[in-house]
Amino acid sequence: MHDVIIIGGGLHGCSTAYHLLKREPSLRLAVVEKDPSYEHAASARSNAGVRILFSQEENIQMSRYGHEVYGGYTELMAIDGVPGQLDFYRHGYLFISNTEAQAEQMRANHAFQTAMGCDVRLLDGPGGGGVVSMLSCRGDHRRRLFPE
Ligand SMILES: Cc1cc2nc3c(=O)[nH]c(=O)nc-3n(C[C@H](O)[C@H](O)[C@H](O)COP(=O)(O)OP(=O)(O)OC[C@H]3O[C@@H](n4cnc5c(N)ncnc54)[C@H](O)[C@@H]3O)c2cc1C
Repeated sequence: MHDVIIIGGGLHGCSTAYHLLKREPSLRLAVVEKDPSYEHAASARSNAGVRILFSQEENIQMSRYGHEVYGGYTELMAIDGVPGQLDFYRHGYLFISNTEAQAEQMRANHAFQTAMGCDVRLLDGPGGGGVVSMLSCRGDHRRRLFPE
């Protein structure tokens, strides 16, 4: 007898289970996974990038929460003093526009993300102000660097 049965033990299923139990530890909850090898699961195949660079507030908020969880994962998922294991590295994202229309969208996103408190830089013009001098990109209009 269960209060909740979650079908699928990928990221969403496990996250839902975790957050439900965190909220209500007495819940009788089961996660049903048809392939414990996760061979074909999107979670196992993903690039595992957690960026905050979005154009909607809700997505930025969700990703910030993801950063918080993954950043503190070893402590958060510790069991009997044994830390959770996760190779989580923080590094930047670089987006490059190919057209003036994309560059315009980037400028708008940059303004929005800056207003949202994101650490994002707009690198206008060829060479991106030298920050991305290791890249040789001909014909691009704008570069946007996201250090988080
Ligand atoms: C190549 C690739 C790269 C990606 N890169 C990123 C990235 O960098 N950053 C990012 O945020 N997202 C990325 N994603 C997206 C992200 O991986 C998915 O959004 C996320 O993993 C989906 O999780 P999920 O739990 O919904 O699905 P899944 O991980 O697919 O889990 C679903 C689970 O349900 C199980 N299942 C299905 N049917 C049943 C059933 N009837 N009974 C029991 N179990 C069942 C499956 O076996 C599977 O394990 C990427 C996706 C792909 C494919």
